[in-house]
This record gives sequence, structure tokens and C-alpha cells, in this order.
Amino acid sequence: MAATQEETFKKMVAHCKEYGFVFPSSEIYDGLGAVYDYGQNGVELKNNIKRYWWDSMTLLHENIVGIDASIFMHPTVWKASGHVDAFNDPLIDNRDSKKRYRADVLIEDQLGKIEEKIEKEVEKARKRFGESFDEAMFRQTNARVLEHQEKWNALHERYSQAMNAMDLNELKQIILDEGIVCPISGTRNWTDVRQFNLMFSTEMGSTADGAQKIYLRPETAQGIFVNYLNVQKTGRMKIPFGIAQIGKAFRNEIVARQFVFRMREFEQMEMQFFVKPGTEMEWFRYWKEMRLKWHKALGLGDEKYRYHDHEKLAHYANAATDIEFLMPFGFKEVEGVHSRTNFDLSQHAQYSGKKIEYFDPELNESYTPYVIETSIGVDRMFLSIMCSAYNEEQLEGGDSRVVLSLPAVLAPIKACVMPLVKKDGLPEKAREVMELLKYDFKTSYDEKDSIGKRYRRQDAIGTPFCITIDHDTLTDNCVTLRYRDTMKQDRIAISELHSIIKDAVDMKNLFKKIMG
Ligand code: ATP
Repeated sequence: MAATQEETFKKMVAHCKEYGFVFPSSEIYDGLGAVYDYGQNGVELKNNIKRYWWDSMTLLHENIVGIDASIFMHPTVWKASGHVDAFNDPLIDNRDSKKRYRADVLIEDQLGKIEEKIEKEVEKARKRFGESFDEAMFRQTNARVLEHQEKWNALHERYSQAMNAMDLNELKQIILDEGIVCPISGTRNWTDVRQFNLMFSTEMGSTADGAQKIYLRPETAQGIFVNYLNVQKTGRMKIPFGIAQIGKAFRNEIVARQFVFRMREFEQMEMQFFVKPGTEMEWFRYWKEMRLKWHKALGLGDEKYRYHDHEKLAHYANAATDIEFLMPFGFKEVEGVHSRTNFDLSQHAQYSGKKIEYFDPELNESYTPYVIETSIGVDRMFLSIMCSAYNEEQLEGGDSRVVLSLPAVLAPIKACVMPLVKKDGLPEKAREVMELLKYDFKTSYDEKDSIGKRYRRQDAIGTPFCITIDHDTLTDNCVTLRYRDTMKQDRIAISELHSIIKDAVDMKNLFKKIMG
């Protein structure tokens, strides 16, 4: 992370705490590693993200329904899904700093460094050549770029092979050959690479003998797979159809970093779309596009997103892509779109001994459906929105402000009603205005401090509208409506407020963008 970006990121994290968005878990006991609590504003923002996702699935698609499965599941689920045997990360320790790393992440960072070198060359050339710069040509012909690219290709090839074969010795050898050092100790004194299973386990049952080892789910998807038949039969669902779910997932991440980006307890929003075998690539493309549209409709900036297609596919997948968002620490995965074949349903059929199929009335035959999955982390989505919304602005007259330019539909509070003074009947009038708004929009009331201070408080939590009641309001029934981003102020009739706010915060407008 560049120094200034790192600074801003740190300030954003501090802001999240100061303004009731995110607190470290059990803070009075010094916190718990990579576990966080959402505060009064954070939970509203998070709920709005979840609502945006849930409605985009279940309202916009007649053939998608939701469920809410338990976190605890029968232990055989995780045997069947492959998580007991294969949900591992390769870890490595530095003997001098005693710090633990993911071997794959160390190598990916090394790849990232080479990519950065290429981008620097391109940027330098762009400045040198100005208008006439032909970027594609430069990338294909510049000797230094080609040299870096060759290095990248060779390392990437070697790394992919090692990961696909889970060859732990080779992963260590790559780290040694690349001269990768521990960022803390600066040394290459590495241990061997070992496998580490990411699932948390606990025991269910009262006696030691009878107790059963069970896992906290590491993904919500399996709750959908094991309920596939229940939903298909009781909902009389016809393929293609989808099942959506939002819920907690748990992973004992080796290295938990970057605030809520990598947590040990987090929340996922997953949708499994069941399709006829042979049509999965068509649906994979559909969902890949659809999900990017969902992100872009929020208006955070189209250039902040990119796809990252996977070359190394998980054991169950035949196509996979990530939707990445430009965080202050680079483009990072926020969502995965995976074509999971019929792997999960077939495994559950085999392990449970139940027939898990779909009878297709058009074909007059039964088959095991294929699955396209869209899987997004609520907390990572939260982080991407916070990173792009957090702004420190210099204002005219030497003043400055911190403003969260949140998409209005997601803002925790939509409007704050403020009587100019605490007397002369203004608070009573302000309460009347609140009555008009509060049943439809999360509205707050603030009568403390100067109007300027009150505006700053609302800017800091991203409230799109402030409504000021003054003495004239009592006679003309008009208020001052102040807009968060432009700080513009308009004189508006009270009777118009509801429709102005509704227009700005209505998710329908985003849904139309997605579907249009
Ligand atoms: P990563 O490679 O970053 O570990 P992943 O590829 O293992 O992520 P998936 O298993 O595809 O992630 O999970 C789907 C989504 O769940 C991710 O895109 C991410 O948004 C979210 N997610 C996964 N792990 C975490 C975590 N530890 N903390 C927060 N969100 C997570």
C-alpha cells in the first residue's frame, strides 16, 4: 500500500470505530483476532447491503427463492463436500520473526510486485509519449516490459502447477528461489510448508463418549445443497431455478489482515443456481455479467471493478471468476462466481444414499443438476463501500470535513431533521416533519450544537439529507434541504420532502439499472 493510501486506510478504520460502524470484538478485553462487531451505523449499512442483494435475487428473478439454514450441520456434510480433506491453506513460518504466512499469498504478492513493475514502465511511457501513446503496442514490444512479463509467466506457471498438485516442497522451493523475505524480520529463514485446515470444530452432545465432533460452516453453500430437494419439491421449482441465502460462515484464517477484509467470523450472501447439464457455461456467463451490473449500479465508479478469471480451479469447479474491487491495497476479490458442476449434489447423493435429482418433464428424464454459484462476502462489500466513500475534503476558507459519500440507498440514516434553535416552537415543527418521514426512511433528530457542527456529524456518517427548520418554516411551511455531497442548500416545501428523499433512496432505481 502506498504511504498516503495506507494513512487514509488507517484513518478510515479509525473513523469506522469513532462513528459507530465497526468495533473490535470484546474490545474491553483487548479484542479477539480478526473478529469484529458492527455498531449502530455499521449494522444499518450492512442491513441495507443485504437488502439490496436479497431483493435483487428474490424480487428480480421469479425463479429464485431464499432459505435460512443452520450454522451447525451433520458432520458428514463436510466429508462429502471435500472440506474435511481439502479445505486447507499452505502455511509457512519465519523462524526469526515467528510470524506465520500463507505460502500461496507470499508467492502471489511476489507476482503482484512484478505486475507493479510492468505498470510503472507503462505509466512512465504514457507520460513521455503523451497523446500519441499506444499502450497495447508498448506492452507487446518494450524490452523491459517483455522481460518482466516473461518472469511473471514463468513464476506463475510454476506456482499454478505447485498449487494444483499441492506440492508443499515445491511451494517452499519457489519462496527460496525467489528470495522472498519475511516483511518483519527481513530474513529467508523459513520453515517447511504445512497444510492447515481452516474449519473450526466443536462438540455437540453432553457426554464425552457420545459427543460428536461438528464444524462451524466455512461456507453457507452446503446448507443450500442439502436443502435442494426440500425446496425443489415444496416450492414446485422448475429448472433453471436458484436458492439464495445470507448467513454467517467461519474460517480459521492463518493470516487475518486488513480490517474486515479477512475475518474469522464473517457473513456470506450466496446463491446457487441449478441448471440443466450442458447449459452451465451459458448461465455462468449470465451470472458473471449480472453480478457485475449489480456492483456497478451503486455508482462507486466502473473503473474500480475487474474480473479475475481463475486458472487454478477448486476441486469442484469447471469455471470460476472473481469480481475484484480496487481497495487501497490493490484489486481484491469481493465476490466469486463459480460453475460448480454437479459435484456437490452428486457427493451428497453418494454419502447420504438418497437420490438427489431433478425429473425434467420436457425431456422426460432425470438428471443431477449443474450449479452456478455467486458468492459474496457482506463484510468485504461493506469494506469496498467504506473505502470508496471515505473522503477528506478541503473546503473554501481553510475549513475541512470528512464526508462519507455513501450511495444514498445504502446510507444508514437517510435524513436528519434539525430545528435551528431549541425554542420558539421549532422543535415541535421539526417533530412534525419527522412524523412525515420516519415511517418510510431511517430519520434522525438533532438539536444540539451549531448547525455547522450538526452538518459535519451527519457528513461523517454519510447522511444524504439534512433538513433545517427555521422561524420562517412556521409561516411558509418550507425548510432548508441541504445535500451531503454538494453541500448545496435549497428552500423546499415540507410537502415535497418525502418524494425528494424517496427518489434518491429508492432501490427500484438501481434494480431498473441492473435489468435495463
Ligand atoms: P480468499 O481467496 O480471499 O481467501 P476465497 O476465494 O476463499 O477468498 P470464497 O470461498 O470464494 O473466498 O468465498 C466467497 C466470498 O466470501 C469471498 O469473495 C469473500 O467476499 C468472502 N470471504 C471469504 N473468506 C472471507 C473472510 N475470511 N473474511 C471475510 N470475507 C470472506
